[in-house]
Parts: sequence; structure tokens; C-alpha cells
Amino acid sequence: MRKLTREHVIFAMDKNNPTVLTIDSGERVLLETEDCFSHQIVSDDMVLGVGFDHSRINPATGPIFVSNCLPGDVLEVNIEKIGVDSQGVVELYPGWGPLGDKVKKAETKIVPIQNGRAIFNQFSIPINPMVGVIGVAPSGEAVPCGSPGPHGGNMDTADIVAGSRIYLPVFVPGAKLALGDLHAIMGDGEVCGTGVEIRGEVTIKINVLKDILLTHPILENEENYFLINSAPTLEEAIQINTEKVVEFIKENNGLSWNQSYMLAGIATDLKISQIVNPLKTVRTRISKRIITRPWPI
Ligand code: CA
Ligand code: CA
Repeated sequence: MRKLTREHVIFAMDKNNPTVLTIDSGERVLLETEDCFSHQIVSDDMVLGVGFDHSRINPATGPIFVSNCLPGDVLEVNIEKIGVDSQGVVELYPGWGPLGDKVKKAETKIVPIQNGRAIFNQFSIPINPMVGVIGVAPSGEAVPCGSPGPHGGNMDTADIVAGSRIYLPVFVPGAKLALGDLHAIMGDGEVCGTGVEIRGEVTIKINVLKDILLTHPILENEENYFLINSAPTLEEAIQINTEKVVEFIKENNGLSWNQSYMLAGIATDLKISQIVNPLKTVRTRISKRIITRPWPI
């Protein structure tokens, strides 16, 4: 298996980033990942602020160049395994999240991980390791790793876990995949601004799917597909995602648009992924009983 160590990080998804690993479709890679603060916060008395290098927030390991992968293809990334470190960090910071005006100064909480559980005071919470940032290089301007978009990026979607598979549109030759920002656990919305931010390692298997029209990331697990979209406001993200969901149901089943909208209303779940990044992200869960393939055509 190929391996990328966590020294190889980028802070923006950028077609001009130099490739650090070239692979073929079908290969496995183990990527070590840095936490979202580049491991600058490792005890409760260390906080965001003076002495903290803000330019090192949201690193992603990569980019990986995939041979014979071209714009117009889809990159299928199977998340096979996620391992996390023995401690993570939760951070509050003035302005973060819907209650950020009540946070007067930064505060850190180190969360030990023991026997698959996150220890937060008297609470022992089963972890659910997930990938916060996974994306490819966009065709135009670079996008900071802190932002989500059609290329993936900082989607902070709690279903991106081991055993899931994400499909990303390819915009540049080689796709230039990078990932990082693991959370030992994170709630939908990520309301305080962080999950349990943590170092770790992720094993992925990559396949190139040729000539498929895809405009946004799609996630798949055993029973469901998830359409994922991001926009400047939650309302816009919901609007865009719902339009895509109805179109998918319609094209997969040959139903009328009206009946597809009805089915979306009674049998799909709209969920908030995160509301704390530059664009807000929602996902809609669609059972495989309703659609049978993750794209319309
Ligand atoms: Ca994140
Ligand atoms: Ca994070």
C-alpha cells in the first residue's frame, strides 16, 4: 500500500499545488492527517490567539495525482479505515457558531480517546471517526481547505466515515485529491465551531469512473446515497440540494417532476452537515430503495 505522511500538507485546494504522490486507479493509499490546528493545541492552557500561527489552520494531506483521470470523470474514494490519535481538541473562539457573540475568549478542552470513547468530563461518548475535509482541485481559483464547494473540501459531513464511499467531480487532470481534518466525533451542524479535532490516518481506495456528469459530491454507504451541497446561506444550500434531489429521483425512476418532489417530501431526509464554515453544507439522505445509482444518467 502507498503511504503519505502528514508532512505533505496543503492549505488550499489548488491546481498548481505540486503533486506529492502519483497513483493508478484501483490503488490503496494510507494518508496520515494533521488535525485542523496543525497540532498547535495539545493542552488545555493552549488556545487560539497570541503565538498561534493562523496560516496553518485546516491542513489537508496531499495532493494525490491519479493517472488517466481527466476533467469530466468522477473520482470514487472508498474510505476503508480511519484511525485516530489518543487525544483530540475542542475549541471555542469569539464569533464562532450561532452563539459566538457569547464567547468572550478562546477556550480549549482536550478530549482523551480511550477504548473507542471520547472522555468529556463525566461523559464517555462512543466515537464516530469522520473525515472533515476531502476534495479535489477546482479548475479556477484556489479554494482554501477551510471552505467546502462542488470540489468537496471542508464539508464536515458526519457520514463521511469508514465504510462509506464519496464521489467527487474531477476538474483538473489527475484530480489532485487531498484530505484531512478528522474528527473523533462531531455533531450535525458543528455548532460550536469544532468537533473533537484530531490527528489520525485514513486508508482509501481510489477508482476513476470515466465520463460521468457530476456537479457536486455524493456520498454512499450500504443503504443510502447522500447528495451534498454548500452555499453562502443554509437556505440557499437547502434550495440547491433539494432541486438536485428531485432531479435525481426523477431521472432514476422516470417519475414526473411533481411526483418526484412528493417522494422527496415523504421519503428523504434533509440534514444539516455544518453551519460554521464560509459556505454552509447540507446533505439529503436518499434510500437505495428510491434511487439505484448515484447520478441521474
Ligand atoms: Ca472542518
Ligand atoms: Ca474540524
